[in-house]
This record gives sequence, structure tokens and C-alpha cells, in this order.
Amino acid sequence: MNCAEFQRDLPLIIDTGGTEEQEDHLRSCEVCRDLVNDLRYIAEQAKLLIPMLEPSPKVWKGIEEKLKDQGLVKPVQVRRTL
Ligand SMILES: [Zn+2]
Repeated sequence: MNCAEFQRDLPLIIDTGGTEEQEDHLRSCEVCRDLVNDLRYIAEQAKLLIPMLEPSPKVWKGIEEKLKDQGLVKPVQVRRTL
């Protein structure tokens, strides 16, 4: 197991914990250890933030309409000017 292999499986390792081989690599490799610590920290912070970042659909609708009113959201233009 090298860093590339380890980091390829990183999301899974963060999510469900690593295999014995991955844990071994983690113990011997400072780079990946730092990476895992960082990602775990970010994941924790994200979990804390999710309740605030997910307003009800009604709120989203209101925001969307406000943005349209102000011309901040424009319909997507399909045709490209040449
Ligand atoms: Zn590594």
C-alpha cells in the first residue's frame, strides 16, 4: 500500500474506517495521517453546519424568487452568440 492507493480509498476510510492494511499505512505515513485528521475535522464541522445550511424548500423558493426579482438569476441561454 502506498499513498496513492491509500488516498484513492480515503473517502471510504473516513466514512467506515480503514482495513488493517490501511491502518498500517496510516501509522507509518505522516502525510496520510495529517490528511485523515484534516478530513475528519472538516467532516465534523460540516455535520455541525448542515442543519443551518439546509433551510426548508419554502425558504429556498423564497430566496430564488428574490434573486429573480433582483435580476441576479437569469434564465440559462441555450444559444451562443457567434
Ligand atoms: Zn501515505
